[in-house]
Amino acid sequence: MMKTIGGKPGRKEFWVPVVNKFRAKLAVWKSAMLSVGGRITLLNSVLSSLPTFYMSLFLMPSCVVSELISIQRGFLWGGAEMKRKIPWVNWELVCCSKMKGGLGVPDLRRRNWALLGKWWARLGDGVENFWKQVVREKYYGGRREVDITGVESGRVSKIWSDVVKIGGLSAGLRNLLVKGFRWEVGDGKRVGFWREIWVGDKSLRDLFPRLYELAVKKEGLASEMGDWEEDRWRWNMEWRRERKGRVRDEEDGLWELLGGVQLKKGKEDHWWWIHGLDGQYVVKTAYEALAPVKCTLADQFCKMIWCRLVPSKVGFFGWRLCLDRLPTKVNLQKRGVVLQEESLMCGLCDGVVEEANHLFCTCKEAWSVWGNVLHWWGMEAVFPNTVDGVAEFFLHGLGRIVGKEIGACVFLAVTWNYRYPICEPRHDKPPGSTERRKSTQYLFLQP
Ligand SMILES: [Zn+2]
Repeated sequence: MMKTIGGKPGRKEFWVPVVNKFRAKLAVWKSAMLSVGGRITLLNSVLSSLPTFYMSLFLMPSCVVSELISIQRGFLWGGAEMKRKIPWVNWELVCCSKMKGGLGVPDLRRRNWALLGKWWARLGDGVENFWKQVVREKYYGGRREVDITGVESGRVSKIWSDVVKIGGLSAGLRNLLVKGFRWEVGDGKRVGFWREIWVGDKSLRDLFPRLYELAVKKEGLASEMGDWEEDRWRWNMEWRRERKGRVRDEEDGLWELLGGVQLKKGKEDHWWWIHGLDGQYVVKTAYEALAPVKCTLADQFCKMIWCRLVPSKVGFFGWRLCLDRLPTKVNLQKRGVVLQEESLMCGLCDGVVEEANHLFCTCKEAWSVWGNVLHWWGMEAVFPNTVDGVAEFFLHGLGRIVGKEIGACVFLAVTWNYRYPICEPRHDKPPGSTERRKSTQYLFLQP
């Protein structure tokens, strides 16, 4: 465990122990020894060895996050410090969960935010304890409202300013935190009537500002704004003076809104996080909710690639294949690799540029392999000429007969064995014969 907190968490030096620990866990020599499956597993487990303690108290400075990411990235793609390797897939996507098209590698920035978000959840939850009183006294003039972005006091401690800051960092965080919490009102004994969000998605103060000016009890709880008549709640408010003109309009709006709201006797107000299953703030859920939504990989391929029958190195290969991130000559050229004395043409046939759709579908070599595969399964088909099309053919065409999982396996097994020569270091050995490939076709399916 780390020593006691010292130094300034906003500075890089403060985080040096964390970075060092991380670097030791994800050392380059380990990367070289492990298969890609092992690397992904280690990347996923390394987070538990990090002091989450630091990450749940302080916002990591960007330079620290970048450094940690570059360690993770180097580990995944196997780049030593001196020798840069190509990071084939955008890091944001790598960090998405497998079912969302990524590898599920921990995104440290998101993790840091999600951990800090816990303070938002706790401050508002209506359970009283000492630290909350301190925070309110210090920063919010003693009020117990929950919009913690509006810090009032001038000097804010590093811890609290970080917590406050994350609410304003991005639209995603704003939705998750600032707009993500609200009250589900019960007996109204915890909810601040004007200042807190409990009916609609804004506070009543923000919805009806003129009316709020005339309210007598500005700090009052919902339960102080009316009376019980038997079991029925009746709203009854006090005003400084008569309401006229636009204020009158606002008042009509307020009654319209409150018309549908009844307090519930004997039921406590509940602080609700709208993204959580039972309204509880869970770091893991917050982390998932902060993931980017767009993904270039269709859901059906995500399931196919990580199907339980497929070893992870093959899954990893399939993932790159479906994303078109294999080192085909075209892709290498796009990433600035100069292919000396080699043209961009396919090495297996003449006159066609080597890119994934050609290499895996329309090349004559590929044709002969797929022809055999279809023949073994007793199928005849107009064969697709794109990788996506072929994957879909095996998922749904063959999959309909033998089950999607087996269909997926056949697709991955064949492409994995056929990947030669592009995934091996490029050399001039001729590709293995179709016969040899045939014999190794299903090797990985054997127990
Ligand atoms: Zn070819």
